[in-house]
Amino acid sequence: HHEQLSPEKLVQALCQADDVDAQMSQLVQLFELSESERRLRHLLVTLFQEVFSEFFPGCAILPFGSSVNGFDIHGCDLDLFLDLEKTKTFQASAKGPPGAQAEEGAGPDSDSEDSILSDIDLTTATVPEVLELVAAVLRKCVPGVHSVQAVHSARRPVVKFCHKDSGLLGDISINNRLALCNTRFLQLCTEADERVRPLVYTLRYWAKQQALAGNPFGGGPLLNNYALTLLVLFFLQTRSPPALPTLAQLRELTGDGNQAIVDGWDCSFSQDTSRLVPSANTESLCSLLAEFFRVFGDHDFAGCVISLQEGRALPLPSFLLSEVGAKLKLGPFNVQDPFELSHNVAANVNEKIALRFQHCCQDGAKYCRSLQYQRKSSKGKAWGLVRLFQPGVLEAGELGLDGLLITIPFTLMALSPGSRQQLCQARDFRRCWFDKVCAAITFVLKDVLKCSCTGPAGEPTEQGGGEQPIVGSKHPRSDEGGSLSVSPAKKRPRPEGPAPEEEESVSWSCAVWHRVWMGRRRVRRQLRHLGSPQPDAEQEAGSLEVEEKVSEAIIQQEGDSMGSEPLLRFTACARVGGGQEDTRTLLCFTPTPQQGLLFQDFYHFLQGFLPRMVERYVGRAAWGGQ
Ligand code: ATP
Ligand code: MG
Repeated sequence: HHEQLSPEKLVQALCQADDVDAQMSQLVQLFELSESERRLRHLLVTLFQEVFSEFFPGCAILPFGSSVNGFDIHGCDLDLFLDLEKTKTFQASAKGPPGAQAEEGAGPDSDSEDSILSDIDLTTATVPEVLELVAAVLRKCVPGVHSVQAVHSARRPVVKFCHKDSGLLGDISINNRLALCNTRFLQLCTEADERVRPLVYTLRYWAKQQALAGNPFGGGPLLNNYALTLLVLFFLQTRSPPALPTLAQLRELTGDGNQAIVDGWDCSFSQDTSRLVPSANTESLCSLLAEFFRVFGDHDFAGCVISLQEGRALPLPSFLLSEVGAKLKLGPFNVQDPFELSHNVAANVNEKIALRFQHCCQDGAKYCRSLQYQRKSSKGKAWGLVRLFQPGVLEAGELGLDGLLITIPFTLMALSPGSRQQLCQARDFRRCWFDKVCAAITFVLKDVLKCSCTGPAGEPTEQGGGEQPIVGSKHPRSDEGGSLSVSPAKKRPRPEGPAPEEEESVSWSCAVWHRVWMGRRRVRRQLRHLGSPQPDAEQEAGSLEVEEKVSEAIIQQEGDSMGSEPLLRFTACARVGGGQEDTRTLLCFTPTPQQGLLFQDFYHFLQGFLPRMVERYVGRAAWGGQ
């Protein structure tokens, strides 16, 4: 089992590093798979290979994606490709006309002829048929695997599964040979230059924190990790002098006999790093990161297509005239797959996210010019990457919602292996996670920030009106002179049954009586001085308990100045994120009118505070509890 990496540990480790370069290398060490995690994956692959060989003689199970491409992180999914080419040949020859017998008893395991293979003809079977068969084998014959489900709707259909003991999630695909090529390409890049991994890990984490990327199940308008990684590699290809070769250059290094055509695309490139000329580029990681932000803060994503093949941005007019150009799906963010040249790997990104990516890069570039980025703080303040990683927010409008938005990302990382497993076993994974996040929000608003409930919420949801009864407050009003309390009002648009499109939402109607968002850092410091010794001297924010004390202290200091009216009233409405597979929780705030500026203050505070506290609560709470 991997060690849990809490946000505090991450901040602490990064603050202790000597410089930004060291921080970036540190990030890789903190995130990458441990030896034992790798071993487990290897064992699983071996197990799958054994079982599948029984049913599909000659088949191969080949891992691809982040388990093997050099960009692994704790708990990343296990992507597997089931190669059935040999099995097809075997089946064809076994069934062949009499006389053209399979070479005596051919196939690696001729006994299994009468198994599953007699039910299906692999050369004519459709992808969904084969996948259902794969799912059946997984369900019935692979020990320790559960939640097996064929997903036919994705661009690349897969069978999903979960490994019981580790909570590891995985996919098996059958027609995805190109992914093996691009996996090998990413791997080669990590081998070619040691700056690649730290830079990619840093930017992946940054993008996730900024809510620009990182949905573990894909879908939605955010960048996926693969597209972001290609963008970083492209950036390195286009430095002067280049830090990475282009694919065209890598292709020139291959011998003529080594052409590899996959699905009609030329996938040949030199696999041999020893043939590469070492790069003349000597930029430090610290400056490469700053340059990344500068370059893409100013890049015309919609007006050209990023090509790793050529290592340059292709201007649209001429690109569109090319054969592949006519087929590529253009959007506000255009990154051409290095092999499947008519595929835009970022075609899902919408205009708002593209624009926000650019703005976040501009902010990043600006921050990187400051001393806080470049120099370690001698006073123990957050510096370097730490500030860059402070969570960003999606504007509600970007997702078609009214009000002010805070996004709570899905984080497997905070969960213990046991909790993970429980989560994976849940029939409705998204709802299970969402319920937990809602419990956390309630706890933070009510217990940590001492908000008070002002009765059932006016529901800001579109369906149903206010008829349904509101599921009563699980957390009765606290009797501590009520600074703030909260009632969650739960609404299930339909009782049960398959209604995946209709979302559940939960809303809270809150009143804030004290300025609990002001001067928390100072109070935290005071509390620490006052003795209550803390095991870890956390710099930026304490544990849930500490934060509770901080609120209490603020309330005490404010004394009885509390009027008969609360400072602020607002409604918060939580729902699961946009796409079918989106696991984020979107929390939309609507203040009652006429408290604009004060609410802005509170909201800005919550933007940073709430996601952090929720993560802590979710990571800590026993999953099984109510
Ligand atoms: P992680 O799982 O940590 O997000 P990953 O690289 O494994 O990283 P996945 O989304 O699991 O990313 O995708 C697995 C592989 O599938 C990728 O390495 C890539 O080969 C391929 N892939 C993913 N997304 C795309 C895409 N949009 N276009 C083409 N290939 C893709
Ligand atoms: Mg993956």
